[in-house]
Amino acid sequence: MLLCVLGLPAAAGAASIQEQMAQFPAVKTAIEELVTANHILYDQGAVDGYGHISVRNPANPDTFFLARSVAPSSVQVGDIIEFDLDGKALNGDARTPYGERFIHSSIYRNRPDVNSVVHGHAPAVLPFGLTGTPLKPVYHMGAFLGAGAPVFDISRFARPDPDTDMFVGNPVLGDALTQTLGQGHYVLMRGHGYVATADSIRKAVFRAVYAIQNAIIQTEAMKMGQPRYLTAGEAAKSQQTIEKTVNRPWELWRQRVGGP
Ligand SMILES: [Zn+2]
Repeated sequence: MLLCVLGLPAAAGAASIQEQMAQFPAVKTAIEELVTANHILYDQGAVDGYGHISVRNPANPDTFFLARSVAPSSVQVGDIIEFDLDGKALNGDARTPYGERFIHSSIYRNRPDVNSVVHGHAPAVLPFGLTGTPLKPVYHMGAFLGAGAPVFDISRFARPDPDTDMFVGNPVLGDALTQTLGQGHYVLMRGHGYVATADSIRKAVFRAVYAIQNAIIQTEAMKMGQPRYLTAGEAAKSQQTIEKTVNRPWELWRQRVGGP
């Protein structure tokens, strides 16, 4: 506030979220889309009372925005907290954060191409993290799944006790999850849920929603027989085509939840 009053350029990350929204139009857009994305993900069944979505700060790649610990459907602009890439809240914000913010901080720290991260527990995708049956693209909308979603098994990384509470509650586990994600954009978490990533909020929401649809179709197909999955070439080509159009479903979903 003081910097603004003095007319000095406030360094991104050192200013409050409200100040950054006033100074950087891209930050205002990102925060408002983040709020809408929370509501869409709930409306589409990608999150419930639990789960979260974040966005990298467009004015400072070393920080990101994520709501305080509330249900996604109730998130408003005033609930957003700015974090550094170690998952530490900035601006002296002492409100309760999500315990699994390290999913987000580790991915942003290790994957400069990622600007948005979604985490949720959608029931349709969970069986694929339990059985060894890979979640693979059965149609063009799931093409981003590529050769199949990797599975993060937390017990392989927890030391010394492999029995954990299943939560990615520290940077070490966040880094292990990121390692399992590799260069892909979707990872299942055994006995827990999923993480979807993208270079934008809209694409991350798209992937979180369509991974669920893909899982439902794949599960149904497997009851009938062996599905014929998209080939690697089909997946690559159809992902390029379909992901140019993510604004279309976003607009539909946005209208449903009444976001700006
Ligand atoms: Zn979780």
